[in-house]
Formats: sequence, C-alpha cells, structure tokens
Amino acid sequence: MKRKILVAVLAASLAFSTWTVESIFAAGSNPESKLKQIQEDKTKAKADLNQARSALNEQKKKLQDLEKKVDSYDQQIAKYTQSLAENQKMLEKQESKFKKILVRMYQEGQMDYTVRLLEAETFSEFLARFETVRIIVKQEKAILDNYINIKRKIEKEKAAIEKEKQKQAPYLEAARNEYQKLVKSVSEKNQNLKHLEHQEELTREAIEEKNRLVREASGRYSGTGTGELMWPANGRMTSPYGWRNGRMHEGIDIANDIGTPIYAADSGTVSLMKSDPDGYGYYIVINHGNGLSTLYAHMYRSSVTVSLGQRVRKGQRIASIGNNGRSTGPHLHFEVHKNGNPVDPMPYLQ
Ligand SMILES: [Zn+2]
Repeated sequence: MKRKILVAVLAASLAFSTWTVESIFAAGSNPESKLKQIQEDKTKAKADLNQARSALNEQKKKLQDLEKKVDSYDQQIAKYTQSLAENQKMLEKQESKFKKILVRMYQEGQMDYTVRLLEAETFSEFLARFETVRIIVKQEKAILDNYINIKRKIEKEKAAIEKEKQKQAPYLEAARNEYQKLVKSVSEKNQNLKHLEHQEELTREAIEEKNRLVREASGRYSGTGTGELMWPANGRMTSPYGWRNGRMHEGIDIANDIGTPIYAADSGTVSLMKSDPDGYGYYIVINHGNGLSTLYAHMYRSSVTVSLGQRVRKGQRIASIGNNGRSTGPHLHFEVHKNGNPVDPMPYLQ
C-alpha cells in the first residue's frame, strides 16, 4: 500500500519534470511560439496544481479521520484510567475497613470475643456467635473480591483499547507522511506555476520590446517604398499570421534551407539590426515609409549583407535564411508593421 503510493508519487513527479524540461527545449520558432508554449505549460501546471491540491485535501480528511479515531481511543483510555483510579481507591478503603474489622475482631477476640465464644453457655450459642463472625468476614471478603474483579475487567478493556490504538499507529504515521509529501508537492507545483507566469511576463515584454523598437526605428529613418511587397524568400509558408491556439503569431513563417537568400520586400532604409538569441535570433527591420516596415528574423549575423541606415532596393539580397534564436527549423519569420503595429503580410504580398 505504502509502496504503491510511493511509486505513484514518483511517477507523477517524473512526468512533471519531463514536460517542464520539454517546455524549455521544444519551444517554437519565435517569442510568440514561446509564449504559446508557456501558456500551454501554464494550463498543465494549473491542472497539476489543482490535482495536487485536491489530493492534499483528501489526504487531510483521511488524516483527520484517523486522528479523530485515535483521539477517541485516547479518551476511552483516559476514562478507564480514571475508573481504575476510583476503583483502586474504593478497594483500598474496603481493604482498610476489612483490616480494621479483622483487627477489631482479633483484639476483641483477645479480650472479649474468644472469651465470649468460649463463654457461650451452650454449643449452639457458640456456633451462632462463631457464625456471626464468619458471615461478617465472608461479606467483607465478597465486597473485596468484587472490587478486584472490577479492576481486572477495566484493566482488560483498557488493554484492548490500547492494542487498538497501537494498531492505528502505522496507519497514522503513513497518513502523516503522505500528507507531508502532498504539502511539498503542492508547494512545488505552485512554484512551477509562478515560474511559468514569470516566464510568460518576460516573453510578453520581449514581444512588446520588439514592437516598440520597430516603432522607434520607423521614426528615425525615412523610407521610399512602393507600398507593395514582394515575397522576401522562396520557400513553403509553414505558419500564417494570426491567432492560433490562443496565441498571436505576428508574422508568417517561410521555411527553406539555411543559406536561402532573403530579399528586401520593398525599397527602404535598414532601420534596426538586433541580436535576440532567446527569441528572433538576428533580425533586421527595413522602413519603407508611409508607416510601413518589414521585419526579417532568425538569421545568423554572418549572413547579413547590409548595415544600419543603409538604403536598400526592393529585391536586394539582405541576408540568408537561418535557424538562429528560438527556432526549431530553418525558416524566415517575416513581419509587416503598419503605423507601428504588426499586421497580416498577405494583403501586401504580390
Ligand atoms: Zn514566425
């Protein structure tokens, strides 16, 4: 029984740590995917926490029931102990009374009783007197025996309850240990959830920071685009723009081999070049003017052939497809920003 619980706890904690590790390494190809992964992990973590909490509550109830049971045994034992003490008192009282009677009879016997017995005028009178003494002794003896019997009975019942209490001891200990384990488990799962919430916040901040940088950059540089964009790379679109599974993908993904050329989607000025090893890898923003900017991500810095502030022509090669940053396969993450906000690139692409 105990072993079974241990195995279950072990299995649960293993499963728990496995998906936590997975969540770190199997994240998506950009901060949005990362955010999605974190949110999925958070849902799991919440369910995990709730499960642990209800297991804890159940165990708490079990433990309380057991403690109540043992407590009632303790109360019974206390009652028996008191009864025994009372009985003992009565027994002692009776014994001393009996002793007094015996002493008195002895003393009286010395001075009086024996004399009186012997002075009996007839044998039948002697017998009657003798019988009286005998009855008194017999009665006292019966009362004493009764107390002794009661004492034995109480002791027996008390011992039985103590045995029952002893039987509960290992269950109580196991229940307490299990309870402590669950308390620890709840606290760990709570911490994991807090950690994920923190990660979520950081990732959100990273996405906001990227959008802020793009906005700033478009203010610093002037662009001269046509407003019509060409496909920035050959390849297969593996992920469109938009909400998917509760997360926002702020661009499109174009998958192709590493080294595949990336072209400026329109004429403009290179307005931002930034390394983001935990997210977009190395990324470039080109300002095309009229509030339009494009962003290219997951490149390696070494593949980039333009520099900050450089004017580029539409179709000019600016870099190569990479697999840099939080990316699970070679692809270009391409965003279009209109007046500082990411928008769907598709209507702009020819
Ligand atoms: Zn993407």
